Amino acid sequence: MAGDRMIRFLCTSPAHRRSTELGLTRHEGQWALCPDLLSQGHEWLDTGGLEVADAVVRWKEIVGLERARPAA
Ligand SMILES: [Zn+2]
Repeated sequence: MAGDRMIRFLCTSPAHRRSTELGLTRHEGQWALCPDLLSQGHEWLDTGGLEVADAVVRWKEIVGLERARPAA
């Protein structure tokens, strides 16, 4: 089972950050996530393989949607 649903690539293209809903696709035979699958010009980042939930968190960190909360 290991590796069955690992996300290998994340699209970091600024032009594709129109949604926070990531779509699942294939890139180079591996699972990949991008919020705008219909557009061209993906900028794939090789994650080395992440679980889906971890991949989504990583993507949000990369695009600045999720930051460490300031200590209050
Ligand atoms: Zn993309």
